[in-house]
Amino acid sequence: MIKLLPQNIRDQIAAGEVVERPASVVKELVENSLDAGADIIEIWVEAGGKDLIKIKDNGAGMSAQDAKLSVERHATSKITSTDDLFNLHSFGFRGEALAAISAVSDFTLLSKTKESDEGTLITIESGNFVSQEIAPSSTGTTITIKDLFKPVPARKQYLKTDETEYRQILKLIQSFSLAHAAVSFRLYKDDKTTLDYPAESHSKSRVKRVLKKRDEDLVEVNFSGRQITLSGFISTPDQGSRSKRGQYLFVNQRPIEDHLLSFAVREAYVQSCGI
Ligand code: ADP
Ligand code: MG
Repeated sequence: MIKLLPQNIRDQIAAGEVVERPASVVKELVENSLDAGADIIEIWVEAGGKDLIKIKDNGAGMSAQDAKLSVERHATSKITSTDDLFNLHSFGFRGEALAAISAVSDFTLLSKTKESDEGTLITIESGNFVSQEIAPSSTGTTITIKDLFKPVPARKQYLKTDETEYRQILKLIQSFSLAHAAVSFRLYKDDKTTLDYPAESHSKSRVKRVLKKRDEDLVEVNFSGRQITLSGFISTPDQGSRSKRGQYLFVNQRPIEDHLLSFAVREAYVQSCGI
């Protein structure tokens, strides 16, 4: 017999595509905070994100009406037509992340716009809407995710140790930090501050802090062609390594991994430095 699945089960299945592990939740939420124009983003993680992920930003926030819509599937403020897909300036556009994440956790969203005096608090448990209340909030958005994969326990077994899951989050935040020097990032692990990157006006200062380099270790690279502009830093040959592990590549401020590019960068480096 064929049955239509209830919406919360559909969302839990769909969540499998967006939410693979704690770091994928953090990625979606940090992208949302950046899209909202935040320049301070704080992230709390407990038990590698399995028990708690909390993200607070000082971005534009949402009205009560938008907050309610934001957790619906296919709800996005970022595109209105398929044409927009070819002119994207935001990280997100599918309108799926919040619906997916709230389908597989105990989820709260607290948000306030600067025009409003009061914030909105939305509570969702395993995809079931619990409440929407008026609540005090600073301007911006705070999202709390407890007990990730609670309604889909089978997925928990694919998670690695707390430490491994945490390290993926740490790497992710470092990567975002390299691409967004003007944004202050702070990461707390089980209530201890583990990363604290103040906003910088020059990306070199951020690169130095994240990769623990000195001024003289970094060489600035700039190129502007017809199709692309390229900017970044390479380390001096005495600091260089033969592996691509120390490479961070970004396209339009998005971290990417690409074997061909990695290889090309490494070859050019090795050949010109003779290491
Ligand atoms: P998408 O990013 O693809 O639009 P999401 O599910 O991630 O989809 O978010 C849905 C909508 O909720 C966004 O389009 C945005 O309008 C709003 N939103 C989500 N997170 C934030 C945030 N941190 N600050 C302000 N608005 C947000
Ligand atoms: Mg998004």
